[in-house]
Amino acid sequence: MTVRTRFAPSPTGLLHIGNARAALFNFLYARHHGGKFLLRVEDTDRERSTQHAVDVLFDGLAWMGITPDEEPVFQSTRQARHAEIAHHLLTQGLAYRCYCTQEELQQMREQAMAEGKPPRYNGYWRDRDPSEAPPGAPYTVRIRAPREGEAVIQDLVQGDVRVANAEMDDMIILRADGTPVYQLAVVVDDHDMDITHVIRGDDHLTNTFRQAMIYRAMGWDLPKFAHLPLIHGPDGAKLSKRHGAQSVVEFRDMGYLPEALNNYLLRLGWGHGDAEILSRDEQIHLFDLDGVGRSPSRMDYAKLSHLNGVWLRQADDARLTDDVLQRLAGREGVTVDDTLRTRILTLMPGLKERAKTLVELADSAAFLGRHVPLAFDAKAEKLLSDDARVMLGKLARDLAVLAEFDAPSIDAALRHFAENHGHKLGQVAQPLRAAMTGGATSPGIDATLAALGRDEVMARLGAVAR
Ligand code: GLU
Repeated sequence: MTVRTRFAPSPTGLLHIGNARAALFNFLYARHHGGKFLLRVEDTDRERSTQHAVDVLFDGLAWMGITPDEEPVFQSTRQARHAEIAHHLLTQGLAYRCYCTQEELQQMREQAMAEGKPPRYNGYWRDRDPSEAPPGAPYTVRIRAPREGEAVIQDLVQGDVRVANAEMDDMIILRADGTPVYQLAVVVDDHDMDITHVIRGDDHLTNTFRQAMIYRAMGWDLPKFAHLPLIHGPDGAKLSKRHGAQSVVEFRDMGYLPEALNNYLLRLGWGHGDAEILSRDEQIHLFDLDGVGRSPSRMDYAKLSHLNGVWLRQADDARLTDDVLQRLAGREGVTVDDTLRTRILTLMPGLKERAKTLVELADSAAFLGRHVPLAFDAKAEKLLSDDARVMLGKLARDLAVLAEFDAPSIDAALRHFAENHGHKLGQVAQPLRAAMTGGATSPGIDATLAALGRDEVMARLGAVAR
């Protein structure tokens, strides 16, 4: 059997991290078992589905490197097939026409509640002859649900889950306007797409029992199910806006690397010993459903930031530079051009040591694209005392005549200068840093000067020196 998994989001909202994690698990499971990962866009709710959400879905998945192995299926294109199955069940007597009006259904619910029973459909038309209905009356199609015994789902995460059949009513599979309901569409599509494993959030567990009814009526093999516990906020409550970012695109904008988000989402609710930082290849190699925990996981934004810092330090300098340039484009006072690109690339090994996100990285690189006179923050102003400015004037003369303007030569020159003038290295480096950056932090001062280049260093020193 070739494993075939699928991710089946409804494009009614933006791809959020809970869904992204389900996508990742499906993807990794398929890869681990040498199978295929498919994407189905469940866009049957025409009112709530938006093109924007579909675009964000494709964008977000591509960004995360979770790409399907076959063309995506759009569920809305398959309605005729869904209806065909409903009619097939009807002709087999496994489903029946229900002519109840809205009012009758409402009455039924009220009566059930008055009797202290759950408000279910009471099977009024289950064994009635359709000729009893008024001619031409609209009808829905309901599945003939088993009434005795129990249904068992052998869930690969939750274990055996049981529901008494008496708990379930004859659900509608085709609406009065002839459109299929969601439960039917999912089953028919999963069957037709030869899905072997359905891995999704455990908020779908009750749906699974309803869907199983359709599989059984059709005599189709059930796929294996794995229901993942949901992601909660740090306080244990259902994840919501007030906890912070949730959509994948927000995380991208906030400067998280896809590797970090993937790594974080994988570790959230799945474990393999102490393994913490895992490359995609390692993830594929190690992932299986037996490592998925049964209790809800808690979103830990601090841990995600930490992981992001780790992945940033491992990331390719040219790639980070391109990202930073994009984030700096349009920033006031910063010229984004090839010169800036070269400066950032040169200083990237030092810059990325300090940043946790790409936003921080861009902020810390912005000074490289500014021009004299720089704006100084309060710390820099303090460092640039009159004495310091006089000292920087002398230093400028030494730096102007350096044979090589690279980090080792600059370092040697600064040490020499400090020694000659009876300063500690920091007493030279800190005002110099303020003059170069407008602030009080930067990577090593020698590397910073080398990245700016001699001309720019001279210009920045000239603007403050006395
Ligand atoms: N379309 C459903 C959702 O977005 C998921 C269906 C499924 O995975 O079976 O929640």
